[in-house]
Amino acid sequence: MKKKILVTGGAGFIGSHLCKRLINEGNEVICLDNYFTGSKRNIVELTKNPYFELIRHDVTMPFFIEVDEIYNLACPASPIHYQYNAIKTIKTSVMGAINMLGLAKRIKAKILQASTSEVYGDPLIHPQTEDYWGHVNPIGIRACYDEGKRCAESLFINYYRQNNVRIKLMRIFNTYGPNMHPHDGRVVSNFIIQALKNEDITIYGDGSQTRSFQYVDDLVEGAIRLMGTGDDFVGPVNIGNPHEFTIKELALKIIELTNSKSKLVYKSLPSDDPMQRQPDISLAKKQLNWEPKIQLEEGLLKTIEYFKSIKKYW
Ligand code: NAD
Ligand code: UDP
Repeated sequence: MKKKILVTGGAGFIGSHLCKRLINEGNEVICLDNYFTGSKRNIVELTKNPYFELIRHDVTMPFFIEVDEIYNLACPASPIHYQYNAIKTIKTSVMGAINMLGLAKRIKAKILQASTSEVYGDPLIHPQTEDYWGHVNPIGIRACYDEGKRCAESLFINYYRQNNVRIKLMRIFNTYGPNMHPHDGRVVSNFIIQALKNEDITIYGDGSQTRSFQYVDDLVEGAIRLMGTGDDFVGPVNIGNPHEFTIKELALKIIELTNSKSKLVYKSLPSDDPMQRQPDISLAKKQLNWEPKIQLEEGLLKTIEYFKSIKKYW
């Protein structure tokens, strides 16, 4: 059955893939974005479809519409972008959540929040399970994002408990793929562009910190499965790829796959940069029958092809 679906942050990296998948499944999609980090280029193909609608709007302001489902993705996700205007980042997470939850309550829509592994901060348990409360510095440079997202989770769960709003909390781990902004500043896009230009690869710290990288198609599949669960399952649920790599391993892999002449250079590690991160995905496997299908090399090759195809933008 055709559903009407609102995707906030729909012109961003993940949002654009989600909009495309939802349109391809025969839904009507309304993409809301203020284009802070998103781009019309990501969704221009979709605008030819009469069931795709584009709205320029900022989620910190109330918004009214009639839809069946809301995916709330609006928020810059890269440290350089979310730290650029920290107060705005907090407002986007917190006021955006209030506005979208108020809308969901009023129109009785299901609503999914794009939360993050950052709610675990620099984790003291490994891998991270959903019952871990996290280790977050509330006054550090990452706090605008981490605490904003933690507050949003708290708002979601309380709208569920107090107002029976049908919520879903998805904790996304590092995700990469085509449509990442070339100047996004995150590690995968930085390293690929540096490697394609044969420039130095900038490793922050000694490169021993780890991340677990998920290809965007796997994430979109997880998000849609989570939205499709019954009203009694609200999460939070980790959606990520448990294969963990050091940042140095990632750099060497990208040099190999791009046949690059780049050399590694070491820069200082930003404060509060988590040392390790790996999702425990047992809950997603059990509740969503989901696990990632695309491993690092395959996903990197697709992403490298994408960045080659948009060379004029970097
Ligand atoms: P992105 O920066 O590419 O996309 C975010 C989108 O939100 C952009 O299109 C941006 O213009 C829009 N936006 C920002 N502030 C807005 C506002 N106030 N009003 C309206 N639109 C606004 O990032 P992404 O990687 O696609 O992330 C999407 C969501 O997933 C974010 O909520 C992010 O926190 C979450 N997430 C992403 C990752 C990841 O690794 N990519 C990991 C964890 C969580
Ligand atoms: N990083 C790096 N070089 C870069 C960009 C990032 O070494 O050019 C490191 C960063 O310090 C962090 C990891 O890569 O340890 C992942 O960074 P990213 O910004 O992609 O995501 P997050 O830290 O939010 O997981």
